[in-house]
Amino acid sequence: MHKHSIAELAAGLRGKKFSSRELTQHFLKRIDAHDGALNSYVTITAERALKQADAADAELAAGNAGLLTGIPIGQKDIFCTQGVRTACGSKMLDTFIAPYDATIVEKLDAAGMVMLGKLNMDEFAMGSSNETSFYGPVCNPWDKTRVPGGSSGGSVACVAAGLAPVATATDTGGSIRQPAALTNLTGIKPTYGRVSRYGMIAFASSLDQAGVVARSAEDAAHVLQAMSGFDAKDSTSVERPVDDLVTGLNTSIRGLTIGLPKEYFADGMSAGVRERIEQAIATLTKLGANFKEISLPNSPLSVPTYYVVAPAEASSNLARFDGVRYGHRAEGAKSLEELYKRSRGEGFGAEVQRRIMIGTYVLSHGYYDAYYLQAQKVRRLIYDDFKRAFADGIDLVLSPTATDVAFKFGHNSDDPVAMYLNDIYTIAANLAGIPAMSLPCGFVDGLPTGFQLMGNFFAEARMLNVAHQYQQATDFHTKWPTEYAS
Ligand code: GLN
Repeated sequence: MHKHSIAELAAGLRGKKFSSRELTQHFLKRIDAHDGALNSYVTITAERALKQADAADAELAAGNAGLLTGIPIGQKDIFCTQGVRTACGSKMLDTFIAPYDATIVEKLDAAGMVMLGKLNMDEFAMGSSNETSFYGPVCNPWDKTRVPGGSSGGSVACVAAGLAPVATATDTGGSIRQPAALTNLTGIKPTYGRVSRYGMIAFASSLDQAGVVARSAEDAAHVLQAMSGFDAKDSTSVERPVDDLVTGLNTSIRGLTIGLPKEYFADGMSAGVRERIEQAIATLTKLGANFKEISLPNSPLSVPTYYVVAPAEASSNLARFDGVRYGHRAEGAKSLEELYKRSRGEGFGAEVQRRIMIGTYVLSHGYYDAYYLQAQKVRRLIYDDFKRAFADGIDLVLSPTATDVAFKFGHNSDDPVAMYLNDIYTIAANLAGIPAMSLPCGFVDGLPTGFQLMGNFFAEARMLNVAHQYQQATDFHTKWPTEYAS
């Protein structure tokens, strides 16, 4: 059952081949058998899941079910869930139980989906390897000595190993796309403002966006459709009807113009990744797409720009964790200042503390103009590059997602800058606010790799269409890591 697509699962439920309770139990059993080694779940909500499954079975019996009714899902532990711990990978929130549900949790519940549990992640979504989690690293199902990518490491590991059919994730600088590429999944970060951020613990508010990791573009389309839409509770949510992401999946891509930014194809990616991407370009050409070299001259500045903007926003967002209102409180403090210092010192891990310090520094008097303001100006230039490309008739942009396949644990841990460079291809889309996705394009020495598509604002349907057409012509995305295939 765990190898079925969402459409197949929905058909199985309708055809009474299995009930949602049986399907849910199947995944809970697999979690029990395999997650000890993978560490993708931090909380398993078996009781809640079975209750939701029974409700879904009743809806199915009554003929009221939608396509997602009764289908299990894993939720990244960054989304608030009423009555269920939301720890965001941090000791700071180890005992935090939110009094309300995030909008996307509400929406997926309303669509009838069954939450299996909450998924491991880098602390406060800061990282590219899932090694910064208070709950320990997550292993890559393709090779357990390697990282699954981050920060949505739990989301991708559980889907790649068949411990959930699909999962939610978030992406501030690449945290959906880079881990998807490293685990042979399809991951999509929609346009900024398309999915509500209400109840999603904030890292860098102007960059954070929720999305999906799935085993195909079609599965991703179904779930993203249900998550999207205007939310009055999020002031950055866009008041615009949600496009139909599913009907157009089978449209031909003939005549489409895809831009290849020369800055993304300079040195940087490994030879193996380059070869796979060139093959993907050849396949898309056969499907009728036209390719054109373009230039996004300011994209090479994405990483330094991001590491000013994101920490600046993080330092402000994380100020609320003071040991008084939320989260970990140090014991025996003798003054208010000591309480703040010790609670934050004990509750936050090293990477989070590093980001808070960088953010505080770049926002401080005397450095604000030199760093923060300058970064905002460069951010605008990066956005203008994309705007120009799309105005010049480019429909989508294609690039690598990650420089290489999954690396070994500990490989980048002593060098924060080397770790930051993992997101060299993904960050620009967050700075510009445009949608972007990653999809599998083959293997290098047995490890999966992917390529990235970026689109104009609200071009999710077109991107998913191209991804689906590519997946009809290739079978990379159908491959499983041997240990989890049966
Ligand atoms: N790896 C990047 C970082 O550490 C991006 C994280 C994310 O997208 N949440 O900030």
